[in-house]
Amino acid sequence: SPIVRASGLRKTYGSGETAVTALRDVDVAFDAGQLTAIMGPSGSGKSTLMHCIAGLDRADGGSVVVDGVELGSLDDRRLTELRRDRIGFVFQAFNLLPVLTAEENIVLPMTIAGRRPDAEWLEQLVATVGLTDRRHHRPSELSGGQQQRVAVARALASRPAVVFADEPTGNLDSRSSEEVLRLLRRAVDEFDQTVVMVTHDAHAASIADRLLVLQDGRIVHDGPAGTSEDVH
Ligand code: ADP
Ligand code: ADP
Repeated sequence: SPIVRASGLRKTYGSGETAVTALRDVDVAFDAGQLTAIMGPSGSGKSTLMHCIAGLDRADGGSVVVDGVELGSLDDRRLTELRRDRIGFVFQAFNLLPVLTAEENIVLPMTIAGRRPDAEWLEQLVATVGLTDRRHHRPSELSGGQQQRVAVARALASRPAVVFADEPTGNLDSRSSEEVLRLLRRAVDEFDQTVVMVTHDAHAASIADRLLVLQDGRIVHDGPAGTSEDVH
């Protein structure tokens, strides 16, 4: 069964004449061990969909089940806990804490949750993101691509049920983008992670297993990726 399932998802911002409907009865499920890219024009509802299924925002209607838990049944405190423990996030802005080293940034969410990552796993993770010799550097001493690789490692550290990436290559040059995309691909192939990525970049979408395209709050395309060059 899927690791994430959204059914009949609806979301409207504002009310009356100025109301904007961002999601119109969206049904979508994400299977474990798959990388999905979400594309679509600006304003089509990509961020809203991701925020609703990641528990960053609440939908007006429908249901979201993540790792067997119905998000609508959780109060804000339990929703925050579920997000912290079971969901990884990668944002366009790397959101690293400048006073902490790469390794301290990677383990911070787990530390906050009162957990300690297994030393062997941490070693493997730091090596996988190619930062073994930079682990004690601060973000200001790292390139943009290296900072985003720290952010990806941070998202993977707790072995979450699902990782959401919002324009993960949006601030990167093509070489750094390639490194980060290869890393997301490895997370799926080697760690059996589930990754859902919003992107405007056709190349980023082409490394996905599945491509979803949103338009005006609806899913208008859902199929294998690789045909992404045809999508504008
Ligand atoms: P995308 O991520 O595809 O650019 P969004 O989900 O950000 O799309 O936005 C979908 C629609 O909802 C757009 O019309 C946008 O203007 C509107 N919208 C998004 N966030 C808000 C908000 N906080 N308040 C009002 N309207 C919003
Ligand atoms: P956009 O998708 O429109 O570019 P952002 O991704 O910067 O906007 O942020 C969208 C929403 O996600 C904001 O409402 C913000 O509160 C939330 N957000 C951004 N970063 C984090 C984070 N690290 N943890 C939790 N929520 C975040």
